[in-house]
Amino acid sequence: MEKFDVIICGAGPAGLMTAFTLGNTTSGSLKILLLDRREPWREPVCCAEAVGNKSLSSLLPVDSSFVRCYSSWINYTSPKGYTAGSYRKDCTIILNRALFHRWLWDRCLEVGVDCRCNAAVKVLDRRDGWWDVTVEKEGAHQIISAPVVVDATGPGGRITRDIPCLKGIESGDENMALAIFAVAEGVPCNNDALQFFYGSPFAYGYGWIFPRDDDAVNIGFGISLRAAQGLSLHQKLLDFIFRKNPHAKIRTICGGKVPLHSAHHRPFAMHGLFKAGDAAGCVDPIWGAGISEALECGRIVGKNIPDWLGKTDSEERRHVEGRIFDQWMDLCGNFYQKSARAKELMNKITDDQWDIFLHHMSNLPRENQTSVLNTLNNSPWLWPIMVWEVCEGLKNKKFC
Ligand SMILES: Cc1cc2nc3c(=O)[nH]c(=O)nc-3n(C[C@H](O)[C@H](O)[C@H](O)COP(=O)(O)OP(=O)(O)OC[C@H]3O[C@@H](n4cnc5c(N)ncnc54)[C@H](O)[C@@H]3O)c2cc1C
Repeated sequence: MEKFDVIICGAGPAGLMTAFTLGNTTSGSLKILLLDRREPWREPVCCAEAVGNKSLSSLLPVDSSFVRCYSSWINYTSPKGYTAGSYRKDCTIILNRALFHRWLWDRCLEVGVDCRCNAAVKVLDRRDGWWDVTVEKEGAHQIISAPVVVDATGPGGRITRDIPCLKGIESGDENMALAIFAVAEGVPCNNDALQFFYGSPFAYGYGWIFPRDDDAVNIGFGISLRAAQGLSLHQKLLDFIFRKNPHAKIRTICGGKVPLHSAHHRPFAMHGLFKAGDAAGCVDPIWGAGISEALECGRIVGKNIPDWLGKTDSEERRHVEGRIFDQWMDLCGNFYQKSARAKELMNKITDDQWDIFLHHMSNLPRENQTSVLNTLNNSPWLWPIMVWEVCEGLKNKKFC
């Protein structure tokens, strides 16, 4: 039986960053295995590929090989089509996620990680303080063991479900949203802008059109699982695309789950099993974005594992496991819990309110739009209050 110090399951942003951080900080002293059931750079990667420039740059050097383009505008459109926007030079990077994964995979190889693709993790078993990981590769099964396993397998973290000793850490499908998009040609798009759509057509979510580095756009929407019940998301996507762009040409359609960040207090780690990224529910509750969150989470997990391995006392190990959660909460979690509460209120904003608010905003000079919308983005819990205040203010003729 092959033995490792750490086995990382899933080579999306969370697993890749965990592996890279571990390899980089331990300089070959640990045996690290990274597994993915597919080639992580195989297209299509199910993502709209937008990430904040500032957050990505704080985590990794931004290599031009995986950047499709930079965007400076973030525009918001109401149901009747009123649009207001904020400007910050190159605030968003549109990634080529396939190439990004490949780039990070190569960095993992450089720091000595054993990287294996087309290797699906099937079962986890706890035995004598170790984890036995059953892996299927090319139809054959193999058991590989390690004291530490990282679940970075994406939304739902299926591989860690129904394991009695992990009660409390496992996540279910109850808090999920669904997102679907098409890469389509013939849809007008300002190449320097991300476009968001709000209102009842995207109840409990939002629609988007993001630029790419070719003639196509990424057009899609995300809605909560509850709101999606009984809907054909595929048909809804086609309606969204063709209503205004009858000659659009679709290259590909792709969809997936997004964990909804609730006021969740699940631990990230137990008995040497660590979670990272979507598997740990680490997403921005307002946008459902999770790329930089997965990287951040992977970095925290990767930094703490060597310390965990260095302890033998179970109480001390529990302390390290708890510390990971605290570090996430300090960095993003507390902010996101506040945002998650505001999201509930944002869902209650009516079409009329979106129209009134964005119509009013669109009449302001661009600098003022930028200043208000940037404030809202920095403190997202202000969104519902601001929309409500503007609507009430206009109704009572407090300002025009
Ligand atoms: C349609 C859509 C659009 C999105 N757009 C954006 C966006 O624009 N910006 C943004 O920030 N976020 C976006 N997100 C969210 C973002 O994609 C995720 O938050 C992010 O990918 C999470 O990274 P991760 O590493 O945790 O999981 P993933 O990226 O899901 O990676 C998990 C990896 O684990 C592998 N895996 C799964 N099961 C197994 C197994 N049993 N054995 C081995 N390997 C396994 C998978 O093949 C995959 O490579 C979007 C999500 C969707 C669905």
